[in-house]
Formats: sequence, C-alpha cells, structure tokens
Amino acid sequence: MLRRSLLFLSEREGLKNLLLKTRRARSLAARFVAGEDLDTALSVVKGLNDSGFRVTLDYLGESVSRPEEAASATDAYIESLSRIDASEASSTISLKLTQLGLDIDLDLCTSHLERIVTAADACGSFVRIDMEGSNHTAAILEVFGRVSASSRAVGIVIQSYLFRSEEDISNLIARRAAIRLCKGAYSEPASVAYQRREDVDANYVHLSRRLLSEATATEMVAGVPPVAIATHDDAMIEQARSFADAHAVPAEAFEFQMLYGVRRDVQAQLVNSGYNVRVYVPYGTEWYAYFMRRMAERPANLLFVARAAVGD
Ligand SMILES: Cc1cc2nc3c(=O)[nH]c(=O)nc-3n(C[C@H](O)[C@H](O)[C@H](O)COP(=O)(O)OP(=O)(O)OC[C@H]3O[C@@H](n4cnc5c(N)ncnc54)[C@H](O)[C@@H]3O)c2cc1C
Repeated sequence: MLRRSLLFLSEREGLKNLLLKTRRARSLAARFVAGEDLDTALSVVKGLNDSGFRVTLDYLGESVSRPEEAASATDAYIESLSRIDASEASSTISLKLTQLGLDIDLDLCTSHLERIVTAADACGSFVRIDMEGSNHTAAILEVFGRVSASSRAVGIVIQSYLFRSEEDISNLIARRAAIRLCKGAYSEPASVAYQRREDVDANYVHLSRRLLSEATATEMVAGVPPVAIATHDDAMIEQARSFADAHAVPAEAFEFQMLYGVRRDVQAQLVNSGYNVRVYVPYGTEWYAYFMRRMAERPANLLFVARAAVGD
C-alpha cells in the first residue's frame, strides 16, 4: 500500500515541484544521485573504479513528450560517452527509452538509440536499456530487437515480477542478448505481475538460474558479461553465488549490479570476495521520479518524504 502510494506520487507533478525546492529533499536525494552534472558524476565514477567497481552511468530523465527533449537527451548521452572515453574513469551507460522519445514515436526513438549505440561501439563502450512500466515493455523490446540486430553493444533488462518475463527471457537467450535481471520497480496490476514478494523472489531465483546456466554461451561485449544479477537482496545474491559455484559458471560470465547509495557494505563484500560488481550511478537534475522509486523500495522511507515535503 505504502509502496503503491509512493509510486503513484512518483508520477505527480505537484509533489515534484514541492520536493525539488526543499533542501531536505535534495540532501536525501544526494544519497542516491551522484550529482547534477557530468563532471561531478565522473569524479564519483573514478572513485568507484579505484575501489574495484565497474560502473554504469545514467543521465536522469524519462517520459519526455517533446521531440526537442528526446534529441537533447540523445546528445547528452553521446557527449557523456565521449567524455568518459577521454577521462580516466571507466563506465558504460544506462538509459530509458521514454527519455529518447518512445512515447512520441517508435521510429524517432529507434534512430536516437541507434546514434547512441553507434557512438558507444566506436569508443568500445556499451548501452543498457533500462526496463520501464509494463505499458512500455513490448515497445522497449521491439526497439531493442531492431537496434541489437546490427550491434552487440546494447543490452536489455528483464523484471522478475512480470508474468511475461519467462517467455521474454527465452527469446532473448536464443538471440544471445546481454540481460540484466531485476525484480521490477513500478506499480503493476495483478493482471500482468506477481503481487506477493515470495512470488517475485521465486521467479527471480528461477530466471537467474536460467540466465546463469546459459551465461557461457554468450560472449562478453566491451567487458560487459552476458548476465547481470541486479539486486540488493541477500537471499537473491546468495542463491546466485551458490548456483554459479555448483555449476562452475566462471566469475567473468556474470556480474552483480547494485544502485549507487544502496547496501554499500554488500557491494564492498562482493568485490572483496572476488566478484564483479557494477554500480548504477545516476546523475542530472531530473532526479525526482528515480528518487521516489528508491523511496518506494523501503516503505520506512515514507516518513522521510513526508518530512521533506513539509520543508527544511
Ligand atoms: C543495477 C540495478 C538496475 C536496475 N534497473 C531497473 C530497471 O531497469 N527497471 C526496473 O524496473 N527496476 C530496476 N531496478 C530496481 C529493481 O527492480 C528493484 O526495484 C530494486 O533493486 C529493489 O529490489 P531488490 O532486488 O534490491 O530487493 P528488495 O527485496 O527490494 O531489497 C532487498 C534489500 O535491499 C535494501 N534496499 C533495496 N532497495 C533499497 C532502497 N531504495 N533504499 C535502501 N535500501 C534498499 C533493503 O535492505 C532491502 O531489504 C534496478 C536495480 C538495480 C540494482
């Protein structure tokens, strides 16, 4: 219930305008967001690299409705790829297709993604397409299918809460796609998604095992392994570790992925145990929806949001 309320609020402009103005909200968001500009984000990336982490950078933004916004986000991603390439930092990028105009026109979005993937290919990098709400799943997979037909420098995300994910994973494995598996961060109806935590987790275990079983059949692209286990859940991490051990899945065939600012202790423990860990680092001024999804993942956070909304 609390989770749904926070996810509902993540799409409301009124609270957004209120929170963006309060100092308390901005400082709460700073735990999850590396900074508002690329320079600040790159210094965070470098620090993480120095501590043994791989990184993927996300330029925050989603659900744009004007073609100029989609074009400008595309330019920002191309610039970030060239700035990363010229810097001492090492990072791939993650993006949302609604930020590239998916809600405006599928062809427009495809051509923006093609430009970004071509730029990534040219500098030996990689683009991960984040998965969004279930009303976008089919279109996101369609655009991924089109662009991945001509470049391998692009990967996709699958959510274990969706009923359709089993079939999607079968199709993607057949095409040797690079897949990040997460539980899913949006509010979804019972007609398309598991509602009980136990069911989402059981499907996560099932799908992660399928992916790990196939991991060695797909080669690495730009240092990115074919399988990413994206979770902060100890039980999900532990089962993936033991399955990989028991089935001799080599450490380079998969990586763990976690969000910037979440379970830093676990991130460090995994790196210290010899696992590859990639941290998802968002930056930019459009942090509101991302931040509210992070709040929704821990219902205890509702109090923080309420305090932030009433002022500093
Ligand atoms: C690298 C990465 C990329 C992702 N990409 C996508 C995507 O493309 N599409 C999508 O729908 N979702 C994405 N997600 C979000 C994901 O779907 C979940 O909503 C999120 O990871 C929480 O689920 P969990 O697996 O960590 O398990 P949970 O059971 O939710 O959490 C396990 C434990 O982790 C800690 N924790 C988790 N979240 C938080 C938080 N926000 N604040 C503080 N502690 C927390 C808590 O201790 C919690 O008990 C991504 C997650 C990661 C790690």
